[in-house]
Amino acid sequence: MPGVSEIKSKYLQKTWQELKVALKKQIELSSTSSDFNQKYRITKRDFELFNKYAKELTWLSNQETNSIIEHGKTIDEKIVFLFHRFKFTYLPKIRIAPTVPAYVLVEPTSVCNMRCPMCFQTDKTFTTNEFMGKMNYNFYTSIVDECFANGIGAFTLASRGEPTLHPQLIEMLDYARGKFLELKLNTNASRLSAKLSKSILSSVNHVVFSIDSHLKKEYESIRIGGDYNIVLKNVQEFWKIRNSPEFRDRKIRVSISGVKVLSSQNPKAFKSFWERYCDDAYLNPAEERWNTYLNTSHPDLKQSCIYPWERLYIWHDGVVNTCDVDYKSKLSPGNIKDIGGIMKAWKNLEWLRKKHLATERSMVTPCDRCGVSHPTYS
Ligand code: SF4
Repeated sequence: MPGVSEIKSKYLQKTWQELKVALKKQIELSSTSSDFNQKYRITKRDFELFNKYAKELTWLSNQETNSIIEHGKTIDEKIVFLFHRFKFTYLPKIRIAPTVPAYVLVEPTSVCNMRCPMCFQTDKTFTTNEFMGKMNYNFYTSIVDECFANGIGAFTLASRGEPTLHPQLIEMLDYARGKFLELKLNTNASRLSAKLSKSILSSVNHVVFSIDSHLKKEYESIRIGGDYNIVLKNVQEFWKIRNSPEFRDRKIRVSISGVKVLSSQNPKAFKSFWERYCDDAYLNPAEERWNTYLNTSHPDLKQSCIYPWERLYIWHDGVVNTCDVDYKSKLSPGNIKDIGGIMKAWKNLEWLRKKHLATERSMVTPCDRCGVSHPTYS
């Protein structure tokens, strides 16, 4: 997401340099073996792209090198993770869609218990009609199975609603456990219990708490419907459990992410307060997007958006989309139940990629009025 704080390298430069040499050597040595593509979960075409553009590994962020160092025990496991990140971050940045989507986000429910001014949940034409609902558990497991079978590396539970409002979230987390290289949950932390916190810590690699202030009055003026004292207590309890002997050895990243919507919000004070209870805390700038569809269109908007190359959302009812900025699914290729699977849905986004590459984003609503934009490599 735009505005995410720069993560520092946790390890000595020497540690990464040595591992980098070993990774490159192992990739070169094994690249001619017949099981290479299956073993490292990369298609022939994507590996050719890796060799052409990315084999020097200079494109990896500090967060990615940290994760590669920490991921798995063997060099082979680290290569699988490296190729996953190549598909997740590098290919989308050069506007090439990986053969298989690297990142799928599933929405347990579209309902939320808060009404923040920077969120589409304030759009009553969204919250008061057919858009609301929760995912059927058996449908959810079929999505997880399909993602797993296709070797999709990153899977997130979140999108338009608050995941903890789904009554079977614990079962959903249990079912996804161990099936993805990166499993993430986003939540506003208002409904955490010790049981749910343990379930989250047993399954995810990364949890993000959406919190916009460290001050009660400011928080409650943004997170309408939220109670600061409850959220603070929940996050403190979660952090205590995360650092308990049961979980401290699992390398689970805990982030606190907020949106800066008021001039009074102080990013430094926010960070220094919340980093007592998480690994990283940051405030992102608010984007011009709510109500997305009523934003002023920008005919001069030419830069392509990264999302159609990067991610696939699956809403609670099976409708797929490339972003949740378009929360009413105007860009959607349809319902996954009718399309015939994730791979077909991914291919069916090709029209949108072409529009963006042809600098014709301004001919597509809501891309013509969306404040999200992303840099490309020069
Ligand atoms: S609406 Fe279009 S431009 Fe905006 S995030 Fe979605 S795909 Fe990108």
